[in-house]
Amino acid sequence: MTATDIADAAQPQRGEALVQIRRVRKSFGAHQVLRDISLEVPAGSVTVLLGPSGSGKSTLLRCVNHLETIDGGRIIVDGELIGYRQAGAKTHEMTPRQIARQRQDIGMVFQRFNLFPHMTALENIMEAPVGVARRSRSVAKSRALELLDRVGLADFAAHYPAQLSGGQQQRVAIARALAMDPKLMLFDEPTSALDPELVGDVLDVMRELARDGMTMIVVTHEIGFARGVADQVVFMDGGVVVEAGAPSEVLDAPQRQRTRNFLDSVK
Ligand code: ADP
Ligand code: MG
Repeated sequence: MTATDIADAAQPQRGEALVQIRRVRKSFGAHQVLRDISLEVPAGSVTVLLGPSGSGKSTLLRCVNHLETIDGGRIIVDGELIGYRQAGAKTHEMTPRQIARQRQDIGMVFQRFNLFPHMTALENIMEAPVGVARRSRSVAKSRALELLDRVGLADFAAHYPAQLSGGQQQRVAIARALAMDPKLMLFDEPTSALDPELVGDVLDVMRELARDGMTMIVVTHEIGFARGVADQVVFMDGGVVVEAGAPSEVLDAPQRQRTRNFLDSVK
């Protein structure tokens, strides 16, 4: 095999698990927030995480993206342990530089858009590619314009966040995350803070991203989105996975009473 063949062979193919979460535990003080979470997300698939407030959904996403550290178990993204590297038989904690590199591969979109208020939409999207990945401004700019077009905001490059609606800001936030060419996108209730009439445009962008083959983990209460887009729906409660499966199973024929109660509450 040539070097390129080897590099290609190391890329997970569609259907193989890009994300492997195994027996993950996490506590804040005496409060065990993640008790024993295992789930797999195949490359190119969409997993929707559902569950009542406080069930540990955000914490789980934050553990995948280095915003929290886990107490036990392991998280593997694209064949690499999150936060640790293996040298022979030994496992070492990653250095801050290694963590920063690993985080570049994982895009995250939050409930609050978290755009830099003093930068235009274009500058927000260019910030990490130029500041972190050290791409040239011209390369970063043409890519940012392409991404703005992709999220339906080609005419808003020069707008500041305050001049954009919540839905437009959230689409800029998605474009900003995509600018680092992530392998995985995490969404934490991306439409929960939006006025109802602005939700659809954001979900449309996410739907298109899924269609293009992006691997995504999405925390959302939008059951219609889950039904239409998810390959897998995972219902969490009290820090455990209560039930997981295809949308037709978990949403339309839930096996557990806790799942039924939750679905009744969000419908
Ligand atoms: P969800 O996203 O499902 O609503 P979270 O993961 O945000 O749940 O929170 C799960 C539990 O962990 C909640 O009880 C929350 O108060 C607690 N928690 C989350 N982050 C922290 C933190 N940094 N310190 C202490 N408790 C936290
Ligand atoms: Mg949350």
